[in-house]
Amino acid sequence: MPTASKRKTATKKKASPRKRASTPRCGLCGKTKNLTKTQCCDQWICANADKYVLFSYARNSCYRNHDRYTMCSYHFHEKHEGDWRECEKCRNGFDTELYVHFSTNEYNFVKLENPPAFEPTRCKGCGCVIDLGHDGYTMTGDDYLCTSCYKISF
Ligand SMILES: [Zn+2]
Ligand SMILES: [Zn+2]
Ligand SMILES: [Zn+2]
Ligand SMILES: [Zn+2]
Repeated sequence: MPTASKRKTATKKKASPRKRASTPRCGLCGKTKNLTKTQCCDQWICANADKYVLFSYARNSCYRNHDRYTMCSYHFHEKHEGDWRECEKCRNGFDTELYVHFSTNEYNFVKLENPPAFEPTRCKGCGCVIDLGHDGYTMTGDDYLCTSCYKISF
């Protein structure tokens, strides 16, 4: 990425600068209803958590997504110091691949600019590459199994 050493303010690269007027919008999807503010980074976000059905795996609430799938929120809940993007505890608390996923996925308002490189995670069973952020997988001890392999083993 070409933006190596520039420090940007959090709001600088919003998608639609025209509409930054008075109506607050969800910083992730742009909706203007049921907004609340994130505790971790004080951004407007929609809170349709009431529609969430337990165990449905529906990722339909921006608030919930930000709360559950970002380093920003993790860093806040763990009460770490400073900025999550510079936090060693966060960095060391996860597999690098997951750390990168939680720092750069679509639930972040501000993504990590220079995510560290990582070795792809491979399935212990068949050796295929597992995308920890998007593919299904299961863990047995320190080993990962892809969905096809763990279906076989049960
Ligand atoms: Zn939203
Ligand atoms: Zn946040
Ligand atoms: Zn942290
Ligand atoms: Zn496999």
